[in-house]
Amino acid sequence: HVSLTVTGMDIIKIKCLSKGQNAVVEIQTQRPVALELYKDYKELGRFMLRYVGSTIAAGVVTEVDAAVRAAKEAFPDWSAKSPEARSKVLNKLADLIEARLEEFAQAESKDQGKAITFARNVDIPRAAHNFRFFASSVLHHTSDCSQMDHMGCLNYTIRCPVGVAGLISPWNLPLYLLTWKIAPAVAAGNTVVAKPSEMTSVTAWMMCQLLEEAGFPPGVVNIVFGTGPRAGDALVSHPDVPLISFTGGTATARLITERSAPYCKKLSLELGGKNPAIIFADADMEQCISTTVRSSFSNQGEICLCTSRIFVERSIYPEFLTRFVEAARRWKTGAPTDPSNDNGALISKEHLQKVKGYVALALKEGAQVHCGEGVDKLTLPEQNAGGYFMLPTIISGVKDSSALMQEEIFGPVTCVTPFDEEEEVISRANGVRYGLSATVWSRDVGRVHRVARKLEAGLVWTNCWLVRDLNLPFGGMKSSGIGREGGVDSYHFFTEVKSITIKH
Ligand code: NAD
Repeated sequence: HVSLTVTGMDIIKIKCLSKGQNAVVEIQTQRPVALELYKDYKELGRFMLRYVGSTIAAGVVTEVDAAVRAAKEAFPDWSAKSPEARSKVLNKLADLIEARLEEFAQAESKDQGKAITFARNVDIPRAAHNFRFFASSVLHHTSDCSQMDHMGCLNYTIRCPVGVAGLISPWNLPLYLLTWKIAPAVAAGNTVVAKPSEMTSVTAWMMCQLLEEAGFPPGVVNIVFGTGPRAGDALVSHPDVPLISFTGGTATARLITERSAPYCKKLSLELGGKNPAIIFADADMEQCISTTVRSSFSNQGEICLCTSRIFVERSIYPEFLTRFVEAARRWKTGAPTDPSNDNGALISKEHLQKVKGYVALALKEGAQVHCGEGVDKLTLPEQNAGGYFMLPTIISGVKDSSALMQEEIFGPVTCVTPFDEEEEVISRANGVRYGLSATVWSRDVGRVHRVARKLEAGLVWTNCWLVRDLNLPFGGMKSSGIGREGGVDSYHFFTEVKSITIKH
């Protein structure tokens, strides 16, 4: 068991004294380091990296420029490969990630603060699945064909990869969202320069170490590390990157839109949400409560799809609130390393303060906090005492116009409010600037279809939450985004269509 504390170095070299033994390496570093370390990987029986408070370089324009050049050089060969050949490489990378699932899950949990169970069951399996899914889906695309016999013409379409794709992802589902972009982009024949969030770059870096073994030629997948205003901006404003796929906050999306406008770049923006759950009196209460606890608080509420406004039909409102609060209290928050915990810690001190600020605002506005922040006590093991933990918090008595009902909180806080009429609740649910997802609970099939049709949301789940068929389009309306990704929509985004007419 080696323990190192290193500052101000770019490379740490670790010599293995014996083969086939287990090793755990803890690294305290000022830079993203340890590239040499992985060269010894295969000599060891099992090798586990633990990062202890590492920081990351801000990133420089020259690094991004070098990555774009590498991607541009690699594009002709990669795009000329058959879809089957590209799929083989994607599937191999999925195998390699799966083989190291535990290592990746530990790193993701430690880096982001999420519960280890969530990282093990959701983040990392989905990252591997993203590669498998797009490896197979790219094989099924065909082109359209039409004829104009009176003109002696045959028309058809082809799809061509765009070139170097710029990919930017957030910190809440780090590898999951990064691979959601890399996989379809390279499956379709593009080469990529991807920038993970500076808050959570570790698993992206770990994946870099597997690219060569998976069979990616140099330059096809480039990952640059750094902050948004430096590395991110350099990518967005690079003239040789014709396409940007961005997932993150709405405010950042505005900047990206402005910066890419001079080049008329193709943009896909997957942004924030203020997602409603609408619960009618005929809903299956048991299932509705357990799912709504999960939809409100999973991953500390740090998922763009989390429920943050719950509208409950007045006749069942008191019963729902009582049972919802009881269930939220059973949702366990604590050490991310403890597999019995549902939630770990929030991403940062600043974010925790921001989320807690909304609860303070609720109290100031005369609302009632039923559980969680300021009401229940959070007990933590000593080593976690300084972490950014917060209990699931349920608030009622909030006006629709309040910031709590209008702004994305992105933490374990949700507001509950009664409603009387179907039309009323649809209009209140739509009364925000976001339009990402919504959940409807009812046994009345007609109503479910009617309400789903009228809700301003890119995704509507009825009697469930976050059940995803990756073939379906994913994305939001209004300030929740532009464009859709997933299945054929990803393929369309990461390719340009061309109409060809042949006169015979
Ligand atoms: P963010 O917008 O602060 O950062 C996202 C990414 O953009 C990071 O990699 C960051 O470095 C980069 N960035 C920041 N400024 C930039 C700039 N000027 N130019 C280029 N890149 C820049 O978002 P975040 O705080 O990391 O993530 C939380 C947000 O992401 C929430 O709003 C959440 O709803 C949203 N989100 C949306 C989805 C979705 O699919 N719709 C999924 C997950 C998260």
